[in-house]
Amino acid sequence: MLTDRHGRIVTDLRISVTRRCNFRCVYCHDEGQGPVLRPTARVPEEMTPEHVERIVRVGAGFDVRSVKFTGGEPLLRTDLVEIVERTRRHVEDVSLTTNGAFLADQAASLAAAGLRRINVSVDSLDPDEFRDLRKGHLEPVLDGIRAAIAAGLRPVKLNMVVMKRTLPRLPDMIRHIGASEGALVLQLIEFMPEIIGHRDWMVDILEVKAALESEAERVEVRSMHHRSIYHIHGAQVEVVDPVHNAEFCFNCRRVRVTHDGCLKGCLNRDDDHVSTAGLDDDGVREAFGKVVENRVPYYGVHVQDYPRRRPSSWPGSRESAPSRSLAQGPAAP
Ligand code: SAM
Ligand code: SF4
Repeated sequence: MLTDRHGRIVTDLRISVTRRCNFRCVYCHDEGQGPVLRPTARVPEEMTPEHVERIVRVGAGFDVRSVKFTGGEPLLRTDLVEIVERTRRHVEDVSLTTNGAFLADQAASLAAAGLRRINVSVDSLDPDEFRDLRKGHLEPVLDGIRAAIAAGLRPVKLNMVVMKRTLPRLPDMIRHIGASEGALVLQLIEFMPEIIGHRDWMVDILEVKAALESEAERVEVRSMHHRSIYHIHGAQVEVVDPVHNAEFCFNCRRVRVTHDGCLKGCLNRDDDHVSTAGLDDDGVREAFGKVVENRVPYYGVHVQDYPRRRPSSWPGSRESAPSRSLAQGPAAP
């Protein structure tokens, strides 16, 4: 088992298989890799399926139990089914985060290859707003979600980035999830400004959580990242709120892998990459050791200027408003 100097074990790999994408979301952090590339860009450095399998095999030897593929847009990889098949030889819990645009055609073959779970990013159910935010079309994404449910990847998790532009859509989204009768669950991701800036796009996520809690019949807390899950009118709503959240970072069990095969200890850091290109299993084992040795809880250790959680207490922020209900929508800036 891999354990860092802060006592955090590593059980998860998040593997980016490409930097290419067919969308251009206004908020995209591209897993810390800089702006996404065009779908047809030539990227010879993308890992082969064998390279991905080697990293997963070595990780599994260290008790990694779960692998999530991401990008860029992972469904642009024409060999993704092979990548999933090879990953399933070593780890049972294999999942994928996608923008969903190409999912309708691929959901069944991915499920047959052993994919267990899928996240589809949908920030708004309004086609015009979706296009404004993501520079892509909503309808094929909805087709993809239906295909994923039909392929048995149920429940499909919808990812929604919570920011000023999307927050007014949250009540609609919760109603949509509730009406799916368990086929869909919602994952709210706090907008992360660390890589792309635009701090003014953020909303007070603690206020959002308070509003969810006030309407929830039940609240659970996941051990991973200490994420809260709210059960509201038949909808399950999980909140991922990493920004200025030392508790999130102290409960992080993840190592990341870039599209070109570098291990990376934190989304927000680029000074800790350890390349696995050309290494044999022993070399990859050593690379895991090095990256875990450098792993620190980003908020709480790496960034010491912002030890406090409450955004309203950050220098230059507005005073915190009292909790509002979901139906009231976001507080005025
Ligand atoms: N292209 C795929 C997709 O959109 O799902 C996978 C890659 S994308 C980088 C992975 C997830 O990160 C998506 O759910 C996306 O919404 C989320 N994301 C991207 N930039 C973000 C940001 N600045 N803050 C919060 N979440 C972000
Ligand atoms: Fe980034 Fe995913 Fe949007 Fe592509 S679809 S721009 S990778 S968030």
